[in-house]
Order: sequence, then C-alpha cells, then structure tokens
Amino acid sequence: MKIPRSIFREYDIRGVADRDLSDQLAAALGRSFAGTLRDGLPAGSALTVAVARDGRLSSDRLFAALTGGLLQAGARVIDAGIGPTPLLYFAAHHLGTDGAVMITASHNDAPDNGFKLMRGKASFFGGDLQKLADRIESGSDDDVHLDGGTLEARDLTGAYIASVKASVRVRRTDLRLVVDAGNGSAGPLGIATLRALGFAPDPLFCDIDGRFPNHHPDPTVPKNLEALQARMIEIGADVGIAWDGDGDRLGAVDRNGDIVWGDRLLMLFARALLAEHPGASVIGEVKCSATLYADIAKHGGTPIVWKTGHSLIKTKMKEVGALLAGEMSGHMFFADRWPGFDDATYATVRLLEILGNEGKTMGELLADVPETFVTPEIRFACPDAIKFEVVRRVTEHYRATHEVLDIDGARVDFGDGAWGLCRASNTGPVLVLRFEARTAVRRDQIRAEVEAVVAAAVAGGLAAS
Ligand SMILES: [Zn+2]
Repeated sequence: MKIPRSIFREYDIRGVADRDLSDQLAAALGRSFAGTLRDGLPAGSALTVAVARDGRLSSDRLFAALTGGLLQAGARVIDAGIGPTPLLYFAAHHLGTDGAVMITASHNDAPDNGFKLMRGKASFFGGDLQKLADRIESGSDDDVHLDGGTLEARDLTGAYIASVKASVRVRRTDLRLVVDAGNGSAGPLGIATLRALGFAPDPLFCDIDGRFPNHHPDPTVPKNLEALQARMIEIGADVGIAWDGDGDRLGAVDRNGDIVWGDRLLMLFARALLAEHPGASVIGEVKCSATLYADIAKHGGTPIVWKTGHSLIKTKMKEVGALLAGEMSGHMFFADRWPGFDDATYATVRLLEILGNEGKTMGELLADVPETFVTPEIRFACPDAIKFEVVRRVTEHYRATHEVLDIDGARVDFGDGAWGLCRASNTGPVLVLRFEARTAVRRDQIRAEVEAVVAAAVAGGLAAS
C-alpha cells in the first residue's frame, strides 16, 4: 500500500484527515501495529489494545477503520471513548494493555488528525514508527484474518478520578480558577476531576467541539490565552489554566495576568518535589532557561538538560529514574505519586496543591529567581535537507572556544549566564533559535552573533549540497 511517508513523524502520525488518513490506511495501521505488538509477545498469547480518541470531526471515522484493522488481526480492543491523550496513557497503565492508540492531532487545525502509539507503558516512536510504516507499505498484513478479535467499551472516568484523588494532597479548594480547554478533548474529564476534588472551576470552552470555534487549542501562543485572561479579570481569579487540544499540555496565567511559561511552572513543581525528595533528578529540555537548572540545583536537586520531545523525555525519565520533567511547550511529567506521563489535568491539580498550600501567587513564589532576558523561540528558515548539517557547522564553530551542549542542536554557553540555542525542528524546514542573558543588551548581542554564524552555516551547507 502506498502511503504518504511524511505523515510518519518523529513522535506520532499526523496529517490532513480527509487527504492523508484514509479508512484503508487506518485499517492497515491497525493490522500492522497489532502484528508488530504480537511479534514482541510469546507465541499464542492474547493481544489487548486500548484505543481512545479526541473530539475531532474525523475521529469517529478513524476509530471505526483502525479498530476494524485491529480486530482483523485478532486483537482484544478496549474502547476508552472520547477524551484527552492522558486518558489513553492512564488506560495503558491501569489496564496493563499490550498496546494503545490515541486518535488525535493535538492542537493542530480542525481538518487534521493523527495517531499516538504506545507499546506497553512506553511511547512507540522514532525508528519504531518508521519500521511500522515500512511494514504497512510492504502489505504483509493485508490478508491477515485471526480469531479472537473483540471490541469492548470501558468507561475509565471513575478510575481516573479516583487515582488523581488518591494521589494529591489538596488543602485549600477555595482558589478562584478559570479553566480554558479550547473546546479540546480534555474539558469534560478535567472539569469533572477538579470538581471531584472540591474545586469550583469556572469553565471556558470546556465542551468538546472538533471545529475549535473559539480559539486554537494551543496554550503556547499568547493570543490563545486572551479570552482566559479577560475572564480572569471579570471574576477576579487567582489563577488561569489552559489545556491544549488533547490535554497533555498546559499553560498557566498568574493572578496579575502574566503568562507563566513551561520552565517557570517546572521550577514551581521542582521546588515542591525537592522539599519531599531531596536530591531527586528533574529533567528539563534544551530550550529552558538557565535559571531553571540553577534553581533545581540550589534546591538540592539534580538538574538534567535533555532533548525536546515528549517521547524522548519519558524515555529519559525511566532511564535515570527522574521523578519530574517538563518542557517549554507545557508538557509536564510526574513520576512522583503518578505514573510519569504528561497529563495537563493532573499537572493542574499539582499546581493548585502548591498554590493552596503556599497561599501565594506563582509570581510571588518565584520572586527570588534572578531576572533574565529571553527571546521567544525564533524560527529561522532552513531547508530540511541541510538543517542537521547547519547545526553541525554551528556546533563546530563554537566548540573550540565555548562550552557547547550538543544533545539536541547546539546550546552554546557564553558564560555570564548567557546562552544561545540553534536546533533543527523535527516538524518542518526550520531551525529553532533561542537566547537568554542577564541584560537585554547582552541577549541581543549574542543573538546577532549566533544568527550571523547560522546564516553563514546555511550558506555553506547550501554550497556543499
Ligand atoms: Zn497535545
């Protein structure tokens, strides 16, 4: 079967539903994923696969086609219903399934859709995803007809809420809180969870609507937080929370209207965690502020800088036994009192636990963090074919004179707290740059310098290609 290979990305499968994700492709995915999972199990054992889906208009169609393929391959399919991606992660952990599939395109535009896969309790990504694409193309599973296929619906809402409840230690539930789910799939379960804990959230766009009629469900874009900020002023809220389209990322707004970015949120979580678990490892990614890593160390933790990408972070957490991790994008991972997967509702509850216990705003809690000047993520156009070569050239350029962290792009340490990052995007013909320094002047200075080096590397890469 000929498939559009570009939809098989680093961490998931994503495309325009009506163009790239045909019923035939979804069914073939079901058959070949079941076959791949079965290859890793003892011969003759039963195969259980959980499937959940977000509220996109194409999700029901893809669910029917995908489960058709899974059933054809003899899988016992558990339909976990419509909900956020963390509900699927929860199903995999709670039920101990052999595999799991989430039908979602996260925060992408309404016409898009896709699949996130799990083998056991781990992400199924990178090379595994490419091998799966090869297998689908080979057609080796096209004629499979195995017995044993069953489809059973399981409502995990109660079990999920009970698990959150058992995990958290909320003392105060009187915080005034606005939650904006952007009409994504996290709204109903998230709001039900908060209410079960005794909170009275003010829900904004918390009904599921796959057309996303109010704003794009991506909390990393300030424009998407404007309705939340306005509502917070209206009701005098203490905190505002936004969830992304499939509920695995969150954004937060402080009482004064300030957006609290992922690395600052992680700092709050890390401080609370380290008070209970001295010496614990906390993972951030290459885009996070240097103040995060300094703060983790200052509070007795072991800071680890790792690659961007939720699957890579979860893999690293298991490898080093880290209790907490987070990304600028708002993925927050708790392996303390929780199984380690990224879950915006759960992270929200942990944040409310901290704010309630401390009786301060996020800004007040972080008032002692040294002020720095950062750029947002700067997108620098660069052809896919040479982007990794450009990063290599930038790394080479600085290695002789500076400390360069090269686990994911080049993070150049300029000393004096200043650093610059140049990394190849996993999702497009773009280099992502970011800069931080103790003064705005210094930040702009290193930015100009690195951008000149990057431009020269792009020119050199093009000439050599
Ligand atoms: Zn997401």
